[in-house]
Amino acid sequence: MNRVVSINRTFSTLSHQTCRRFHVSVPTLNKDYYKILGVSRNSSDEDIKKSFRKLAMKNHPDKHTGDSRKEAEEKFKEITQAYEVLSDPQKRQGYDLYGEEGVGQHDHSSQHAEDIFNMFFGGGGRQVRRQNQDVLQQVQFTLEDAYKGTTKTISTTVNTSCSTCNGTGSMKKDGHKTCSMCGGMKFVQVRPGFLQECPGCKGQGTTIDPQHRCIKCHGKKTVPSVNSLQVDIKRGAENGDRILYEGKGDHSDSSLPPGRLFVEMVQASHPLFTRKGDDLVMTKSIDMKESICGASVSFKHLDGRQVDLVSPKGVVIKDQSVLEVEGLGMPLEDRPKRFGKLFIQFTVRDCTLTSEQLDGMKQIFGVVDREAKEGQIEMKPRKETRRKEERTSDGGGNGCKVQ
Ligand SMILES: [Zn+2]
Ligand SMILES: [Zn+2]
Repeated sequence: MNRVVSINRTFSTLSHQTCRRFHVSVPTLNKDYYKILGVSRNSSDEDIKKSFRKLAMKNHPDKHTGDSRKEAEEKFKEITQAYEVLSDPQKRQGYDLYGEEGVGQHDHSSQHAEDIFNMFFGGGGRQVRRQNQDVLQQVQFTLEDAYKGTTKTISTTVNTSCSTCNGTGSMKKDGHKTCSMCGGMKFVQVRPGFLQECPGCKGQGTTIDPQHRCIKCHGKKTVPSVNSLQVDIKRGAENGDRILYEGKGDHSDSSLPPGRLFVEMVQASHPLFTRKGDDLVMTKSIDMKESICGASVSFKHLDGRQVDLVSPKGVVIKDQSVLEVEGLGMPLEDRPKRFGKLFIQFTVRDCTLTSEQLDGMKQIFGVVDREAKEGQIEMKPRKETRRKEERTSDGGGNGCKVQ
């Protein structure tokens, strides 16, 4: 039986079929990556990241034992696969249009899933790769750097195998002797049934004869190696972004490939702007006159150009209200010619009116002075001696007083 398949199909339920009536071949769409990550189809990159972080931690196979481990392993693979596609703008677009067929070949191995996890968490998962340790290093950048894009040179320090002793720690080939503390067992018994790594040889089983100890690494087998690295801060780069450098990590064991180096971006705070995704937020304090009659906002943007803004005519700016301007936010990382929004949050200051100003206002609003008539009780301004917590709790501060 043929079914008519609507273009706005549900991704999770379709299998491969040909719709004869329209001669349209419907691609195999058996996995809904959005559903797997528990996000909506128009969710932001940030939402996808957040959801992946939560689900990947929960379903990591190392957190499960017995029967539930197999299930977690499958789920973990599914989550990382969904994340791999939806976190890549190109793959995501391909998937949105053509489903899994629009994404290309997938690596379905557990190792690949583990690699994605490690890339995301910077080696926080289990180290199953036969290679040296991954290294995480941070690079500081400013909002200006992320607005314009720049390159930073950082110095990285990783351990490499000592070339003087070929990573043995000893200048002589037979300079090692069996550890006297553990007798070469690598472990010592601390109490019946409990073993601990031997402190004498640090679990090596042998120690280096002091007279043959390597003069360069002093028996440590590794030496620190300092390198300089050019880090590309792309336009739109965000706090917490990580760049992966294959083969630039730890290389203590020369018989294994070097580990990976992750450089994490750390954004310094900015005196004027706070970043919220692709948008910028700034605050502006205005007085009551500006609140009623309109306000202007001027500042130097992150690229140094002068920006002058004015509030919309006839709009009263209330305390804590927000106005927005399109295109004055951050450049979008994947489309650097497009920009987010700028939000300006207003606070309206305390103000003091002269008696002439007050009279003028009364005239405009047609207000007649109120005086207590018989039977009416006059309220008094609250005394300033009240307790501090009372002052903060009634949200005061925006009223006006007369000079
Ligand atoms: Zn020992
Ligand atoms: Zn050495």
